[in-house]
Amino acid sequence: MSEFLAKGVKRHLKYCPFCGATSIRACDKTYYYRQGEERMYWYECKHCKSRSGEYHSREEAAGAWNRRFIDE
Ligand SMILES: [Zn+2]
Repeated sequence: MSEFLAKGVKRHLKYCPFCGATSIRACDKTYYYRQGEERMYWYECKHCKSRSGEYHSREEAAGAWNRRFIDE
């Protein structure tokens, strides 16, 4: 498996494991609860919309995205 850095993404993200696209979007969303708020981060392929899953930090989300290559 060759290392590949997605274009326009500063962190070291690999290309999409499903469609091979290199356009990976960095997403985040803030959830509001009665106790406070929580910010979640994930990465999403702009082409096929596959997602990394939501994590509490950008780093975790990036790690989860990259780990897909090992899991499969
Ligand atoms: Zn994709």
